[in-house]
Amino acid sequence: MTSEIGAFTLFEPTTEAQCRACGAQVVWTITPQGNRAPINYHPADNGTILVMSPHGYGERLSIVLSGPALERARAHALPLHTSHFADCPKAEEFRRRPTAPK
Ligand SMILES: [Zn+2]
Repeated sequence: MTSEIGAFTLFEPTTEAQCRACGAQVVWTITPQGNRAPINYHPADNGTILVMSPHGYGERLSIVLSGPALERARAHALPLHTSHFADCPKAEEFRRRPTAPK
């Protein structure tokens, strides 16, 4: 499902990738701090991360919502995701050696 807000498109399902450590479906995004962050492909009830794709560009932006912004996003039933780092079974290995074979 794709929702549009102005010039931005919320999460495009075709941009999925796989976690190189555990094989889970993730979406690579850029955070407000400029870091690359893997986000779980499927939205979650306890998700707090909004993923957006500027039109015409392949990169995705992720923003962690909290407080009133998070409440509003949930009230509008926006798809909210969780960080893959939070539940990747091989997060430590993944952080240190992204291309390490199993
Ligand atoms: Zn993983």
